[in-house]
Amino acid sequence: ADRLSRIRNTLGAIPDFPKAGILFRDIFPVLRDAEVFKDLNEEIFEASKSYPDVECVVGLESRGFLFGPILAQKLSVPFVPIRKKGKLPGELISQTYELEYGTDCCEIQKGSVSKGQKVLIIDDLLATGGTMKAACDLLEKLEADIVLCLCIIELTGLKGKSKIDKPFKSLITFD
Ligand code: 5GP
Repeated sequence: ADRLSRIRNTLGAIPDFPKAGILFRDIFPVLRDAEVFKDLNEEIFEASKSYPDVECVVGLESRGFLFGPILAQKLSVPFVPIRKKGKLPGELISQTYELEYGTDCCEIQKGSVSKGQKVLIIDDLLATGGTMKAACDLLEKLEADIVLCLCIIELTGLKGKSKIDKPFKSLITFD
């Protein structure tokens, strides 16, 4: 818990980014402090331990890529990225989802996750939950077994968790 408050106190908060009225939670100050970054990766690893038999870590673009591979290495399992449309090569599976204005699309490489494989999805932050929900829907298309959706930060006021019908865990919450 002490470790978590150190991480919490190291996070940045930038008003009016990327647009007016948004208080952006910045995770990069944590990465700039080697000890706090180590603490965070340890907390992520600890959180994953309640969900044994994870066979694959799936990270969401882009900040899920900062923590996902480190967790995957600690668990000795593969790391697989989900990216925004047009970034991944080869044969892909895609999932479109609704934004406040318009739609977006995320993609995964075909064959990167197998049917029935136990996957843990990781991202830095849950806001409306749209991104995590899309990742779940995409992995469901591949018939993966989603054992945990893990976020470092959860903005509870936006009620994103209610969109996720899989086990969900966050390490740090803000209203
Ligand atoms: P959602 O789809 O839940 O509304 O938004 C979550 C996605 O947007 C995540 O991939 C996350 O990285 C990004 N995001 C939204 N707001 C913030 C924020 O305040 N800080 C950071 N670091 N990422 C955010």
